[in-house]
Amino acid sequence: MPEDLRIGITTTVPAEIIYAAGLVPVDLNNRFITARDPSKLIEEAEQAGFPRNICAWIKGLYSAAGREGIRRLVAVARGDCSNTHALAEILEIEGVDIIDFSFPYGRGEAELDAELGKLCAALGASRQAAEREKERLDRCRAPVHEIDRLTWEERRVTGEENHLWQINCSDLRGDPEAFAAEAESFLEAAVARRPMPPGVRLGLIGIPPICSDLYRTLESLGGRVVFNEMQRQFSMPYRTGSLAEQYRRYTYPYDIFFRLDDIEREIERRRPDAIIHYVQSFCFRGIQDRLVRARLKLPVLTLECDRPGPLDARNRTRLEAFMEMLEA
Ligand code: SF4
Repeated sequence: MPEDLRIGITTTVPAEIIYAAGLVPVDLNNRFITARDPSKLIEEAEQAGFPRNICAWIKGLYSAAGREGIRRLVAVARGDCSNTHALAEILEIEGVDIIDFSFPYGRGEAELDAELGKLCAALGASRQAAEREKERLDRCRAPVHEIDRLTWEERRVTGEENHLWQINCSDLRGDPEAFAAEAESFLEAAVARRPMPPGVRLGLIGIPPICSDLYRTLESLGGRVVFNEMQRQFSMPYRTGSLAEQYRRYTYPYDIFFRLDDIEREIERRRPDAIIHYVQSFCFRGIQDRLVRARLKLPVLTLECDRPGPLDARNRTRLEAFMEMLEA
């Protein structure tokens, strides 16, 4: 039987090292949320003993790992959340080989460098090969940066298309060149489009939303998402010279103040009229909402969802009222 080269990931980790080891990353978030029946995956996890009152992403990751038959997983021990720790423990007891990786608190350069070395050693990749993979993946992610620019600068790409291309940068769908080729042909079609009407420019910050119709709803209310904060981070948007520099600039695993610096820079550049702060039910990041509101100088609507599926009536009404207020 051929060796299973796939390795599960639960958030963006240095995919360059995984590819340098000859392995193929599988982002379980994307497998969960693009499944035909994401709600069923939540039910399966609850039947397996996951509590109702924990974050639905974790339950989706658990079931996606089972459905995909994942036998190896890179788990982020620092820089993600404690739910991920518990998930790794459950998967370990179920026979999955867990390889831990940490984003150091405070973005310490030496510590991050040591973590990258540790991950190389655990997966059997050399550091030089990993740095070469960085150059390859930088090239493959480049068309996505252009897709992002066409979103906010030229209004030729919708907020949802932008979201999908950027979140897929976490694992480049397991085939970086094929992913880049698809992104290039999408770009070719997008540049030929007429710019969409301006609408109300919105920034969406926070983790990628679990609900299925947020972008469509906002568009139907005259909104245009021109900034997907965390999704953009997964695309590694900065020009960097090494893996250590790249993963020090990546804001997702670090403190909220570092993230807010990046958000403010992008607000300056993209000029949204307002911000929607998406928070996942039962996620620690919800606590940071008050810091977001205190710092940003734009109207902020906090939107919380629990499970996959369409927005509920209450959230729809809140979005309608917010968009009416902005238009007025
Ligand atoms: S949404 Fe929050 S609680 Fe859920 S997996 Fe992500 S960081 Fe953890």
